[in-house]
Amino acid sequence: MQNFCYKCGRIASEKVQLIENLCPDCYIELHPLLTFPAPLKIKLCEKCNRYFFKNRWITSHYTDLESIIDNALKDIIPPQIERPPQTELEITSNVPGNMESILRKETIIIDINARGRAHNTLDIYSESYKSQKVDLVFTVCPSCLSVKRGMYQAILHILTPYREMLERERDYVFSFIEKQVAKSTKLDDLAYISKFNMKKGKITFYVGSEKFARALASNLSYNLGGLLKETYKFGSRKIPKEVKQNKLYISIYLPSFVEGDLLWVNNAPLHITQIRGKKVSGHNLITLEQFKKPLKVLKDATVLLHSSDIRSFINFSQTKETFQLMDLKNYRIFEIPKSEKYGELKVGEVTRGFEVDGQIYIIPK
Ligand SMILES: [Zn+2]
Ligand SMILES: [Zn+2]
Repeated sequence: MQNFCYKCGRIASEKVQLIENLCPDCYIELHPLLTFPAPLKIKLCEKCNRYFFKNRWITSHYTDLESIIDNALKDIIPPQIERPPQTELEITSNVPGNMESILRKETIIIDINARGRAHNTLDIYSESYKSQKVDLVFTVCPSCLSVKRGMYQAILHILTPYREMLERERDYVFSFIEKQVAKSTKLDDLAYISKFNMKKGKITFYVGSEKFARALASNLSYNLGGLLKETYKFGSRKIPKEVKQNKLYISIYLPSFVEGDLLWVNNAPLHITQIRGKKVSGHNLITLEQFKKPLKVLKDATVLLHSSDIRSFINFSQTKETFQLMDLKNYRIFEIPKSEKYGELKVGEVTRGFEVDGQIYIIPK
Protein backbone atom coordinates (compact mmCIF):
# COMPACT_ATOMS: atom_id res chain seq x y z
CA MET A 1 0.00 0.00 0.00
CA GLN A 2 1.56 3.26 -1.03
CA ASN A 3 1.38 6.10 1.46
CA PHE A 4 2.07 9.12 -0.68
CA CYS A 5 -0.02 11.09 -3.17
CA TYR A 6 0.42 9.89 -6.73
CA LYS A 7 0.26 13.39 -8.06
CA CYS A 8 2.24 15.64 -5.71
CA GLY A 9 4.12 13.10 -3.60
CA ARG A 10 2.72 14.38 -0.28
CA ILE A 11 3.09 11.77 2.48
CA ALA A 12 -0.12 10.49 4.02
CA SER A 13 -0.66 11.24 7.70
CA GLU A 14 -3.49 11.45 10.17
CA LYS A 15 -4.20 14.94 8.87
CA VAL A 16 -3.75 14.09 5.22
CA GLN A 17 -5.83 11.05 4.43
CA LEU A 18 -5.41 9.75 0.93
CA ILE A 19 -8.48 9.28 -1.21
CA GLU A 20 -7.90 6.71 -3.91
CA ASN A 21 -4.14 7.28 -3.82
CA LEU A 22 -4.42 11.06 -3.94
CA CYS A 23 -4.19 13.71 -1.24
CA PRO A 24 -7.42 15.72 -0.76
CA ASP A 25 -6.07 18.76 -2.65
CA CYS A 26 -5.00 16.70 -5.65
CA TYR A 27 -8.19 14.66 -5.47
CA ILE A 28 -10.27 17.84 -5.68
CA GLU A 29 -8.08 19.20 -8.45
CA LEU A 30 -8.45 16.05 -10.54
CA HIS A 31 -12.13 15.60 -9.76
CA PRO A 32 -13.92 18.84 -10.53
CA LEU A 33 -17.48 18.84 -9.22
CA LEU A 34 -18.82 19.45 -12.67
CA THR A 35 -17.92 17.68 -15.85
CA PHE A 36 -19.27 18.50 -19.23
CA PRO A 37 -19.55 15.35 -21.35
CA ALA A 38 -20.45 17.43 -24.39
CA PRO A 39 -20.47 21.13 -25.24
CA LEU A 40 -23.42 22.81 -23.54
CA LYS A 41 -26.19 23.68 -25.92
CA ILE A 42 -29.69 24.96 -26.30
CA LYS A 43 -31.62 23.84 -29.32
CA LEU A 44 -34.15 26.24 -30.75
CA CYS A 45 -36.47 26.24 -33.72
CA GLU A 46 -35.44 29.18 -35.85
CA LYS A 47 -38.97 29.65 -37.12
CA CYS A 48 -41.18 29.40 -34.04
CA ASN A 49 -38.64 29.89 -31.19
CA ARG A 50 -39.73 26.71 -29.46
CA TYR A 51 -36.91 25.02 -27.53
CA PHE A 52 -36.07 21.37 -27.26
CA PHE A 53 -36.21 19.83 -23.80
CA LYS A 54 -36.64 16.20 -22.73
CA ASN A 55 -37.35 15.08 -26.28
CA ARG A 56 -40.10 17.61 -26.83
CA TRP A 57 -40.42 21.01 -28.43
CA ILE A 58 -41.58 23.43 -25.74
CA THR A 59 -43.44 26.67 -26.34
CA SER A 60 -42.20 29.29 -23.92
CA HIS A 61 -44.46 31.71 -22.03
CA TYR A 62 -42.17 34.45 -23.26
CA THR A 63 -42.27 35.90 -26.73
CA ASP A 64 -38.86 37.49 -27.21
CA LEU A 65 -35.88 35.24 -27.85
CA GLU A 66 -33.80 36.81 -25.07
CA SER A 67 -36.32 35.93 -22.36
CA ILE A 68 -37.01 32.54 -23.88
CA ILE A 69 -33.34 31.61 -23.70
CA ASP A 70 -32.74 33.17 -20.31
CA ASN A 71 -35.62 31.26 -18.75
CA ALA A 72 -35.02 27.99 -20.57
CA LEU A 73 -31.40 27.81 -19.37
CA LYS A 74 -32.33 26.70 -15.87
CA ASP A 75 -34.21 23.69 -17.24
CA ILE A 76 -31.98 22.81 -20.15
CA ILE A 77 -28.47 23.17 -18.76
CA PRO A 78 -28.46 21.06 -15.53
CA PRO A 79 -29.22 17.73 -17.26
CA GLN A 80 -26.20 18.31 -19.51
CA ILE A 81 -23.79 18.51 -16.58
CA GLU A 82 -22.44 15.49 -14.74
CA ARG A 83 -21.96 16.01 -11.03
CA PRO A 84 -21.99 14.11 -7.74
CA PRO A 85 -25.48 13.66 -6.29
CA GLN A 86 -26.75 16.59 -4.21
CA THR A 87 -24.53 19.10 -5.95
CA GLU A 88 -26.38 22.38 -6.16
CA LEU A 89 -26.12 24.55 -9.24
CA GLU A 90 -26.69 28.23 -9.66
CA ILE A 91 -26.70 29.54 -13.20
CA THR A 92 -26.38 33.18 -14.19
CA SER A 93 -26.42 34.41 -17.75
CA ASN A 94 -25.79 37.64 -19.53
CA VAL A 95 -28.44 37.04 -22.14
CA PRO A 96 -30.64 40.13 -21.68
CA GLY A 97 -29.41 43.04 -23.75
CA ASN A 98 -27.10 40.92 -25.83
CA MET A 99 -29.43 39.91 -28.61
CA GLU A 100 -27.27 41.04 -31.49
CA SER A 101 -24.18 39.26 -30.31
CA ILE A 102 -26.25 36.16 -29.53
CA LEU A 103 -27.51 35.95 -33.06
CA ARG A 104 -24.15 36.76 -34.59
CA LYS A 105 -22.11 34.28 -32.57
CA GLU A 106 -24.82 31.71 -31.91
CA THR A 107 -23.46 31.30 -28.42
CA ILE A 108 -24.15 32.71 -25.00
CA ILE A 109 -21.94 32.79 -21.93
CA ILE A 110 -23.10 31.64 -18.52
CA ASP A 111 -21.52 31.43 -15.08
CA ILE A 112 -22.18 28.35 -13.01
CA ASN A 113 -21.66 28.10 -9.30
CA ALA A 114 -21.61 24.60 -7.84
CA ARG A 115 -21.78 23.49 -4.21
CA GLY A 116 -21.05 19.93 -3.26
CA ARG A 117 -18.17 17.51 -2.78
CA ALA A 118 -16.30 15.21 -5.09
CA HIS A 119 -15.96 12.49 -2.44
CA ASN A 120 -18.10 11.77 0.59
CA THR A 121 -15.14 12.01 2.99
CA LEU A 122 -14.66 15.67 2.05
CA ASP A 123 -16.50 18.69 3.44
CA ILE A 124 -18.89 20.61 1.19
CA TYR A 125 -17.19 23.33 -0.84
CA SER A 126 -17.97 25.65 -3.76
CA GLU A 127 -16.49 25.77 -7.20
CA SER A 128 -17.24 28.38 -9.78
CA TYR A 129 -17.21 27.78 -13.49
CA LYS A 130 -17.08 31.18 -15.08
CA SER A 131 -17.72 32.05 -18.71
CA GLN A 132 -19.01 28.70 -19.87
CA LYS A 133 -19.98 28.71 -23.50
CA VAL A 134 -23.45 27.54 -24.47
CA ASP A 135 -24.02 26.87 -28.15
CA LEU A 136 -27.33 27.92 -29.61
CA VAL A 137 -28.31 25.31 -32.13
CA PHE A 138 -30.86 26.76 -34.49
CA THR A 139 -32.75 24.15 -36.39
CA VAL A 140 -36.29 23.69 -37.65
CA CYS A 141 -38.77 21.76 -35.57
CA PRO A 142 -40.75 19.16 -37.52
CA SER A 143 -43.97 21.16 -37.27
CA CYS A 144 -42.32 24.18 -38.88
CA LEU A 145 -40.80 22.39 -41.87
CA SER A 146 -42.44 23.93 -44.93
CA VAL A 147 -44.57 21.34 -46.56
CA LYS A 148 -46.49 22.13 -49.72
CA ARG A 149 -49.28 19.89 -50.91
CA GLY A 150 -48.57 18.57 -54.34
CA MET A 151 -47.26 15.76 -56.46
CA TYR A 152 -43.81 14.46 -55.79
CA GLN A 153 -41.35 13.04 -58.29
CA ALA A 154 -38.67 11.75 -55.99
CA ILE A 155 -38.24 10.13 -52.62
CA LEU A 156 -35.18 10.90 -50.57
CA HIS A 157 -34.22 8.54 -47.75
CA ILE A 158 -31.54 9.34 -45.20
CA LEU A 159 -30.62 6.13 -43.44
CA THR A 160 -28.40 4.93 -40.62
CA PRO A 161 -28.74 1.18 -41.15
CA TYR A 162 -26.40 0.07 -38.34
CA ARG A 163 -27.19 2.54 -35.61
CA GLU A 164 -29.67 5.14 -34.41
CA MET A 165 -29.54 8.48 -36.12
CA LEU A 166 -27.89 11.10 -33.95
CA GLU A 167 -29.86 14.12 -32.83
CA ARG A 168 -27.35 16.44 -34.44
CA GLU A 169 -27.66 14.62 -37.75
CA ARG A 170 -31.44 14.97 -37.65
CA ASP A 171 -31.19 18.66 -36.70
CA TYR A 172 -28.79 19.27 -39.51
CA VAL A 173 -31.00 17.53 -42.06
CA PHE A 174 -34.12 19.47 -41.09
CA SER A 175 -32.47 22.83 -40.98
CA PHE A 176 -30.61 22.18 -44.23
CA ILE A 177 -33.74 21.06 -46.08
CA GLU A 178 -35.72 24.04 -44.82
CA LYS A 179 -33.02 26.48 -45.94
CA GLN A 180 -32.77 24.88 -49.36
CA VAL A 181 -36.54 24.99 -49.83
CA ALA A 182 -36.60 28.67 -48.87
CA LYS A 183 -33.71 29.42 -51.22
CA SER A 184 -34.72 27.36 -54.23
CA THR A 185 -38.45 27.84 -54.32
CA LYS A 186 -38.09 31.27 -55.97
CA LEU A 187 -36.19 29.76 -58.88
CA ASP A 188 -37.84 26.39 -59.14
CA ASP A 189 -41.57 25.85 -58.59
CA LEU A 190 -40.96 22.20 -57.86
CA ALA A 191 -38.39 22.78 -55.14
CA TYR A 192 -40.68 21.72 -52.35
CA ILE A 193 -41.27 18.90 -49.89
CA SER A 194 -44.75 17.45 -50.11
CA LYS A 195 -44.46 15.31 -46.97
CA PHE A 196 -41.91 13.67 -44.75
CA ASN A 197 -41.66 11.04 -42.08
CA MET A 198 -39.21 10.06 -39.44
CA LYS A 199 -38.32 6.71 -37.95
CA LYS A 200 -35.50 5.65 -35.67
CA GLY A 201 -32.87 5.13 -38.33
CA LYS A 202 -34.53 6.82 -41.26
CA ILE A 203 -35.94 10.12 -42.48
CA THR A 204 -37.89 10.21 -45.72
CA PHE A 205 -38.71 13.30 -47.75
CA TYR A 206 -41.11 13.33 -50.70
CA VAL A 207 -39.63 15.87 -53.05
CA GLY A 208 -41.32 17.93 -55.77
CA SER A 209 -38.71 17.37 -58.45
CA GLU A 210 -35.90 14.96 -59.27
CA LYS A 211 -33.53 17.84 -59.78
CA PHE A 212 -34.19 19.27 -56.34
CA ALA A 213 -33.95 15.82 -54.73
CA ARG A 214 -30.55 15.22 -56.36
CA ALA A 215 -29.25 18.59 -55.25
CA LEU A 216 -30.37 17.94 -51.68
CA ALA A 217 -28.88 14.45 -51.72
CA SER A 218 -25.46 15.43 -52.97
CA ASN A 219 -25.14 18.27 -50.47
CA LEU A 220 -26.36 16.21 -47.54
CA SER A 221 -24.11 13.27 -48.33
CA TYR A 222 -21.12 15.56 -48.63
CA ASN A 223 -21.74 17.27 -45.33
CA LEU A 224 -22.70 14.20 -43.32
CA GLY A 225 -20.50 11.68 -45.10
CA GLY A 226 -22.40 8.92 -46.79
CA LEU A 227 -22.92 6.80 -49.83
CA LEU A 228 -25.62 7.53 -52.36
CA LYS A 229 -27.79 5.06 -54.19
CA GLU A 230 -30.33 5.91 -56.87
CA THR A 231 -33.04 3.70 -58.33
CA TYR A 232 -36.32 4.09 -60.14
CA LYS A 233 -39.28 2.21 -58.74
CA PHE A 234 -42.98 2.10 -59.33
CA GLY A 235 -45.02 3.96 -56.79
CA SER A 236 -47.85 2.58 -54.71
CA ARG A 237 -50.03 -0.11 -56.25
CA LYS A 238 -53.22 1.75 -55.40
CA ILE A 239 -52.53 4.32 -58.08
CA PRO A 240 -54.34 3.50 -61.38
CA LYS A 241 -52.06 2.10 -64.06
CA GLU A 242 -52.32 5.11 -66.37
CA VAL A 243 -51.11 7.45 -63.66
CA LYS A 244 -48.44 5.12 -62.39
CA GLN A 245 -45.01 6.35 -63.18
CA ASN A 246 -41.47 5.59 -62.27
CA LYS A 247 -40.31 7.51 -59.28
CA LEU A 248 -36.77 8.31 -58.38
CA TYR A 249 -35.61 6.89 -55.07
CA ILE A 250 -32.43 8.29 -53.62
CA SER A 251 -30.97 6.75 -50.50
CA ILE A 252 -28.15 8.26 -48.49
CA TYR A 253 -26.53 5.66 -46.27
CA LEU A 254 -24.73 7.39 -43.46
CA PRO A 255 -21.62 5.59 -42.18
CA SER A 256 -21.93 3.09 -39.33
CA PHE A 257 -19.60 5.33 -37.32
CA VAL A 258 -19.45 9.02 -36.47
CA GLU A 259 -16.69 11.46 -35.65
CA GLY A 260 -15.08 10.52 -32.32
CA ASP A 261 -15.62 6.75 -32.67
CA LEU A 262 -12.86 4.17 -32.40
CA LEU A 263 -12.83 1.60 -35.21
CA TRP A 264 -10.95 -1.65 -35.43
CA VAL A 265 -9.59 -2.18 -38.92
CA ASN A 266 -6.94 -4.73 -39.94
CA ASN A 267 -5.75 -5.14 -36.36
CA ALA A 268 -5.39 -1.43 -35.87
CA PRO A 269 -7.44 0.95 -33.71
CA LEU A 270 -8.48 3.94 -35.79
CA HIS A 271 -9.77 7.06 -34.09
CA ILE A 272 -12.06 8.99 -36.44
CA THR A 273 -11.70 12.75 -36.32
CA GLN A 274 -13.46 13.87 -39.48
CA ILE A 275 -15.92 12.58 -42.07
CA ARG A 276 -16.44 14.75 -45.14
CA GLY A 277 -17.99 13.56 -48.35
CA LYS A 278 -16.45 10.24 -49.19
CA LYS A 279 -13.29 10.79 -47.12
CA VAL A 280 -12.58 9.81 -43.55
CA SER A 281 -9.62 11.02 -41.54
CA GLY A 282 -8.20 10.29 -38.13
CA HIS A 283 -5.31 8.65 -36.30
CA ASN A 284 -4.05 5.12 -36.09
CA LEU A 285 -3.64 4.81 -32.31
CA ILE A 286 -0.79 2.30 -32.55
CA THR A 287 1.47 4.17 -34.95
CA LEU A 288 -0.15 7.54 -34.07
CA GLU A 289 0.07 8.39 -37.74
CA GLN A 290 -2.70 10.37 -39.40
CA PHE A 291 -4.70 8.69 -42.09
CA LYS A 292 -7.18 9.68 -44.76
CA LYS A 293 -9.20 6.86 -46.27
CA PRO A 294 -12.13 6.55 -48.64
CA LEU A 295 -15.39 5.98 -46.79
CA LYS A 296 -16.02 2.94 -48.96
CA VAL A 297 -13.04 1.10 -47.47
CA LEU A 298 -14.29 1.68 -43.92
CA LYS A 299 -18.00 1.37 -44.45
CA ASP A 300 -18.31 -2.02 -42.74
CA ALA A 301 -15.64 -1.39 -40.10
CA THR A 302 -16.32 -2.57 -36.56
CA VAL A 303 -17.09 0.24 -34.16
CA LEU A 304 -15.26 -0.63 -30.94
CA LEU A 305 -15.94 2.39 -28.78
CA HIS A 306 -17.57 5.81 -28.94
CA SER A 307 -16.26 9.21 -27.98
CA SER A 308 -18.22 8.89 -24.72
CA ASP A 309 -15.88 5.99 -23.82
CA ILE A 310 -12.79 8.19 -23.93
CA ARG A 311 -11.02 8.06 -20.56
CA SER A 312 -8.60 10.34 -18.81
CA PHE A 313 -5.31 8.97 -17.54
CA ILE A 314 -2.82 10.66 -15.28
CA ASN A 315 0.86 10.04 -15.81
CA PHE A 316 1.90 9.48 -12.20
CA SER A 317 5.40 8.18 -12.68
CA GLN A 318 7.81 7.11 -15.31
CA THR A 319 10.94 5.07 -15.72
CA LYS A 320 13.46 5.25 -18.50
CA GLU A 321 11.37 2.95 -20.64
CA THR A 322 7.79 3.30 -19.44
CA PHE A 323 5.00 5.59 -18.32
CA GLN A 324 2.73 4.55 -15.46
CA LEU A 325 -0.73 5.83 -16.18
CA MET A 326 -3.72 5.71 -13.85
CA ASP A 327 -7.24 5.62 -15.20
CA LEU A 328 -9.02 8.43 -13.37
CA LYS A 329 -12.35 6.65 -13.55
CA ASN A 330 -11.50 3.29 -11.98
CA TYR A 331 -7.92 3.92 -10.71
CA ARG A 332 -6.49 1.01 -12.62
CA ILE A 333 -2.86 1.36 -13.47
CA PHE A 334 -1.34 0.76 -16.86
CA GLU A 335 2.24 0.68 -17.93
CA ILE A 336 2.99 1.70 -21.47
CA PRO A 337 6.33 1.83 -23.24
CA LYS A 338 7.67 5.34 -23.57
CA SER A 339 7.70 6.70 -27.05
CA GLU A 340 8.42 10.07 -28.53
CA LYS A 341 5.21 9.78 -30.51
CA TYR A 342 3.23 10.58 -27.33
CA GLY A 343 5.00 13.92 -27.24
CA GLU A 344 6.21 15.27 -23.96
CA LEU A 345 4.08 13.64 -21.29
CA LYS A 346 5.07 15.06 -17.94
CA VAL A 347 4.47 13.49 -14.55
CA GLY A 348 1.15 14.79 -13.19
CA GLU A 349 -0.15 15.47 -16.68
CA VAL A 350 -3.49 14.10 -17.80
CA THR A 351 -3.91 12.54 -21.20
CA ARG A 352 -6.87 10.97 -23.00
CA GLY A 353 -7.32 7.59 -24.57
CA PHE A 354 -9.34 4.42 -24.99
CA GLU A 355 -9.06 1.15 -23.13
CA VAL A 356 -9.57 -2.00 -25.16
CA ASP A 357 -9.19 -5.37 -23.41
CA GLY A 358 -6.76 -4.12 -20.80
CA GLN A 359 -4.67 -2.26 -23.33
CA ILE A 360 -4.69 1.51 -23.52
CA TYR A 361 -4.41 3.61 -26.62
CA ILE A 362 -3.47 7.24 -26.16
CA ILE A 363 -5.10 9.84 -28.40
CA PRO A 364 -2.50 12.25 -29.79
CA LYS A 365 -2.89 15.83 -28.53
ZN1 LIG B 1 -1.34 15.49 -3.82
ZN1 LIG C 1 -40.86 25.44 -35.07
